[in-house]
Amino acid sequence: MQKGNISVQTENIFPIIKKFLYSDHEIFLRELISNAVDATTKLRALVSRGEVKGDIGDTTIEVIIEEDNKKLIIRDKGIGMTEEEVKKYLNQVAFSSAQEFLEKYKEESAIIGNFGLGFYSSFMVADKVEVVSRSYQEGAKGVTWVCEGDPEYTLAENDKEERGTDVILYINEENKEFLQKHRIEQLLSKYCKFLPVSIKFGTKTEQVTEGEGEEAKEKEVEVDNIINNTNPAWCKQPTDLTDEDYQAFYQELYPFSAPPLFWIHLNIDFPFHLGGILYFPKLNNNFELQKNKIQLYSNQVYVTDDVKEIVPEFLTLLHGVIDSPDIPLNVSRSYLQADSNVRKITGYITKKVADKLSELYKKDKEGYESKWKDIGVFVKYGLISDEKFYERALPITLFKNVDGQHFTIEDYKEKVKGNQTDKHDKVVLLYTNSPDSHDSFIQSAKAEGYDILLMDNVIDNHFMQQLEYKMQNITFVRVDSDTVDNLVQKDEKKESVLNEEQQKTVKEVFEKAVTDEGGSVMLKALSPESQPVTITRPEFLRRMKEMQAMQGNQFGGFPDSFNVVVNSNHPLVAGKLLEEKDESARAEMAEYLYKLALLDQGMLKGSNLTAFINKSLAFLK
Ligand code: ADP
Repeated sequence: MQKGNISVQTENIFPIIKKFLYSDHEIFLRELISNAVDATTKLRALVSRGEVKGDIGDTTIEVIIEEDNKKLIIRDKGIGMTEEEVKKYLNQVAFSSAQEFLEKYKEESAIIGNFGLGFYSSFMVADKVEVVSRSYQEGAKGVTWVCEGDPEYTLAENDKEERGTDVILYINEENKEFLQKHRIEQLLSKYCKFLPVSIKFGTKTEQVTEGEGEEAKEKEVEVDNIINNTNPAWCKQPTDLTDEDYQAFYQELYPFSAPPLFWIHLNIDFPFHLGGILYFPKLNNNFELQKNKIQLYSNQVYVTDDVKEIVPEFLTLLHGVIDSPDIPLNVSRSYLQADSNVRKITGYITKKVADKLSELYKKDKEGYESKWKDIGVFVKYGLISDEKFYERALPITLFKNVDGQHFTIEDYKEKVKGNQTDKHDKVVLLYTNSPDSHDSFIQSAKAEGYDILLMDNVIDNHFMQQLEYKMQNITFVRVDSDTVDNLVQKDEKKESVLNEEQQKTVKEVFEKAVTDEGGSVMLKALSPESQPVTITRPEFLRRMKEMQAMQGNQFGGFPDSFNVVVNSNHPLVAGKLLEEKDESARAEMAEYLYKLALLDQGMLKGSNLTAFINKSLAFLK
């Protein structure tokens, strides 16, 4: 037996490993299984190059718990190590890579998936680690390396017969959770679900049918419990996959989820390696819940589900898997954003998503329209946040009007510009965010031959602002922002039937009636068929207010302000009201008309509403 010191220059990194990485203890399992997978794929590579001859047999990796002995064993049938290799790889390579990792970890606390600590991460959970290995090479002797969490190790020959490596962890008291079956199951499912080599964790019972026809019998048998899918959908060629395969893989990733709308298979080798499948989920309005579900893998090894730095913010609404060995994993997040590969990958994903949307739109417009409710949020989010995406996706961004028809922005402009161009030559896009509360406005606008868009998504305010800024020749105007004569400002004036004196009287009467804060009375000569009194909210002021509210500025902001537009051409105003000589009857009438307008806008509430209803009932009596 030999004894040695792992490295002369190091004081002792073991206490650091144990203490420093407290929160990430569990990653030891991923690191050790990744090593086992590497050892197995290396062996397969040697076979395919003809350097290893003959049958290499079953190469399933096993994870075994021996609870009584407090042992956790990771067993592979890979290339194994000779004595020389153990010295070189475990005492030097593995040790110095662990050291390097810890140096980095000290400097930058957030490291993306904490890759890189490797073999020595086993000392986070074990007081003693034994490596029992035998190389694939002919005539190789088995070797056992033992280290008890200090720089000393022992190395001895053994009589292991099978090729491969057992890493045996003597789990310490603080980490005994890792001797529990369900805990290991949980970790295997998190980190190893799609590794390319089969991983066995115990056995399970399975129902099988024996015999045929009448003689068929159900029987329970013990089979290996293989915890991973070694050939996940994203590693296959798109041409080998059916829609059902993609749907099934989605369920594998997110069991019991609503089916995704469609998906994109990422598959490139140049100028970087990137694979994966991104799914468009069915988005509910509460999309915060649906964010950050993309999983990042590196050669099928799970790294993290926090991909903010790799995927543009708006794409974090997508679900699925990205696999790229070219994303540097053991670096901090700020570094990652600056990495040129990562930026290229981001750009590539953005382009693929835009291309996919265009393809869907071209192939099946109706299908696309029917999905728009779910895709829309996502596309608009993208247009706002990503310049490149804006250029690519604007032509397939849909606008829906209150009659349920869909248009692209160019088609829509073409449709309405004849009737809806204002004196500044801007096309006025009328919209509502609430058809129910704007019904009277929508009806008058329609009577004028105007078209009204439905912009009722949480993101629409922001989106319209962005479009106005980008396109310059359009302006969005909410249908309740002015009376219909002035919605599209065209430079036409209607004459009032009232003389100046009469106008003054009407105005005064209404000014007394409008007691609510923020309401200001104005007279307008509208069509006699229009409402006698209308509440409008000027577009600009309303937007300012909404913006302030979004920024959470409730105090000291703009007060609620609205216009009370009195139609001086309406028979009730020009006729009945003016003819009424009794001042209090006249005041009462103005107040009643004003309250009706408030009611129309849902602004009559509480005791005011009750009083109004009682008054109306009294009229009827
Ligand atoms: P890394 O895997 O990043 O190279 P590790 O510290 O995990 O770093 O391992 C160091 C080296 O030890 C590996 O590169 C490999 O050569 C060797 N090694 C570790 N585990 C095994 C194993 N199960 N079978 C064969 N070789 C192994």
